Amino acid sequence: MRLGAAIRRWGGGWMRRPRSAAPAGGAPSAASGEESARLEALLAARQVQRYEIERWRAAFAALPEPCVLLNQAGRVLFANREAERLLGLEEPAPAGTALDDLLRRTAGMRVWREPLADGRNAELGELVVLRDPSGEARDEQVLGEFLSHISHELKSPLNTIRSYAEMLLEGSVDRAATQKEFFNVITEESCRLAKLIDNLLDLSKIDRGALVPQRARLRLESLVGELVRAAEPQARAKGIQLAARVPSNLPTAFADKDLVGVALNNLLANALKYTPEGGRVQVRASHDEGTVCIEVEDSGIGIPPEERERVFEKFYRGASTEVRKQPGTGLGLALARQIVVLHGGTLTVDGAPGRGSTFRIVLPVGGREQREAFGLPEAT
Ligand code: ADP
Repeated sequence: MRLGAAIRRWGGGWMRRPRSAAPAGGAPSAASGEESARLEALLAARQVQRYEIERWRAAFAALPEPCVLLNQAGRVLFANREAERLLGLEEPAPAGTALDDLLRRTAGMRVWREPLADGRNAELGELVVLRDPSGEARDEQVLGEFLSHISHELKSPLNTIRSYAEMLLEGSVDRAATQKEFFNVITEESCRLAKLIDNLLDLSKIDRGALVPQRARLRLESLVGELVRAAEPQARAKGIQLAARVPSNLPTAFADKDLVGVALNNLLANALKYTPEGGRVQVRASHDEGTVCIEVEDSGIGIPPEERERVFEKFYRGASTEVRKQPGTGLGLALARQIVVLHGGTLTVDGAPGRGSTFRIVLPVGGREQREAFGLPEAT
């Protein structure tokens, strides 16, 4: 008896012993004993096969990509949960539906198709991976904007460096004071380039999980002091009143000084960049039980409510012309937030257009218990 026929005959009973395997009213003959053993084996094989199919279905259903499985005739065998969600299906797609009928539900759906074959190259059907058209268009737009920003950001300091260096080389600048000024511009522009590249590298390291904070005891008041002092020339040049109000009794944080410095510096640089001449920027710190809070407040252009979360996305830049007038890559806040999150903290923003912004970092602070729990060294 062939497998298919045996299964049909025994009604596919799950672990059910075939009722007619032994002739009624008598001891089983040797032949019927053999037959019954063969049927038992067939049923056990079928049980394993079903189990394998169920296991495979469960794995396929849980795939994080929206996938549809087609038979050789191009008809739907199975659509996983992500595909159902993307296609807006409230119930599982009926087996046998034509793929085109499913795809018609979402305009512009992109598909990627991979033929499936068994070990002997016999065609089994196709795996179709769906692509959310809105997500893809958004990714392409973000990537396009990023490339244009990044090339502008790289090109403008490089052009400045080149033209100032050429003037110095041509000997067209005689006065020592002017030469010094030119060298200063070259140094500043190369620092800007280095900062941009550092931000990109740090973000990519965080994405790969390769950036591990080197935590040590960190005195935030001295870090804030250093950063504010370094930003003073820039604030003066723009006529911005820059002040720090940090209590000296702030508890110690266990944090990576360089990384927290990058995050705070990005907030401070933005506050100065997005505050018009004559404005105010203030860095404040306070503490509560188990946390320390550092705020960078400015009297600048502010952020509309609908952009308050988006500004932390990689490559996102505000839509207003005031923002677009300023150079930028949309990386500073993404990096700042990732760094703060790496330290178990939060970074948020308040404010309103025309009324300034307040960026707030909240970090857990470590007492002796925290240091001991983490096995952290005392900083010098
Ligand atoms: P970039 O400044 O290079 O554009 P960021 O990631 O640092 O990138 O900031 C993302 C966006 O957040 C900015 O493009 C701007 O729209 C907004 N933003 C950041 N800081 C401020 C601020 N202090 N005031 C107003 N808008 C800000």
